[in-house]
Order: sequence, then C-alpha cells, then structure tokens
Amino acid sequence: MKGIVFNILEQMVIEKAGLVAWDQLLNDVQLDSQGIYTAGKSYPDDEVVALATRASEMLDIPTGDLIKAFGCYMFAQLVERYPIFTDQKTTFFDFLKSVHDVIHVEVRKLYDEPSLPDFKHKQINDTQLLMRYSSPRKFCMLAEGLIAGAAEHYQVKYKLDHRTCMHQGADHCDFLITLEP
Ligand code: ZN
Repeated sequence: MKGIVFNILEQMVIEKAGLVAWDQLLNDVQLDSQGIYTAGKSYPDDEVVALATRASEMLDIPTGDLIKAFGCYMFAQLVERYPIFTDQKTTFFDFLKSVHDVIHVEVRKLYDEPSLPDFKHKQINDTQLLMRYSSPRKFCMLAEGLIAGAAEHYQVKYKLDHRTCMHQGADHCDFLITLEP
C-alpha cells in the first residue's frame, strides 16, 4: 500500500477520534514504519490491516464496516487531491467504468509501481452495472467503500449486491450495482 493510503487513514482517525486515539493506535500495534508514511512510498499491507483491525476494536465498529467507511472517506480525499479524475466523468457509472482503463493508468504515472486491483465491468442496462474485483489482497470492502464514496460524489442512490466474494473461496468478487430513483 502506498503511503498516501496511510496518510488518509491517519487523517480520518484524527478527525473522527482525535490525535490521542491515533497515537494510542500506533502505540498498540507497534509497526516497523512507526506510523511515519511518505505518500509515494510503499509499505506492507500488513500495516494497514493491523491499523484497521485495532481501530475497529477501539471504535467498536466491525472491521469490514470500518474499512468500508475508510474507503468512502478516502474517495473524497482523493477527489480533493486529484479532481481531474472525477471532473472528466459526468455520471457515477461512467466514472466506475473508467477506473481500470483510465484512472489506474493515471495513478501509475503518479506513483511508482502501485499495486492496484483488477476491475472489470459489464453494463447490464441503464440502471445496472456489474463490477468484478480481483486482487490478491482481497480488499473488497475497501472497494465497496470507494464505490460508496463515488456515489456520494455523484449524488446517486444505489444498492450493491456483493454476490460473489473472494472471502468465500471465489477467485474474484462481483458487485452488482443497481441505481435507485
Ligand atoms: Zn468480496
């Protein structure tokens, strides 16, 4: 994971729970990096998992829910830093369909060798889009949170059916996204 992800996690914890909570979290998990992250550098995935797991205990929120909330928060932060990614897309579905072939290509120019998940999409009809996620990290809850953040950005309501999941033995996750009026 790139340091920027950790920077945004730190920002969220401080905003929601205070600086003392972030210090406590770092103290509890004892990381090699000591919690000092440079945006463009890579850090072990284990650190983000350890931080999220401990934060979920501290805040009494299930880990999956916390990671999803983090994904949603991260989306808004990324839009602030890189508004061009959403400015070029006018709808929620257009944005989601551009993630793999446009946005991730741009991210690779900004960051040295980021490890990004694979996303495929299939538009079923005007109101339904299937997104297929695969990554050896199985961070599908983070992807769900980022999708939630995108929906907030585009001000749409939707339902997400996480119908196939890597955590249940599949080699990918399928999200069926249905727009709601
Ligand atoms: Zn999944």
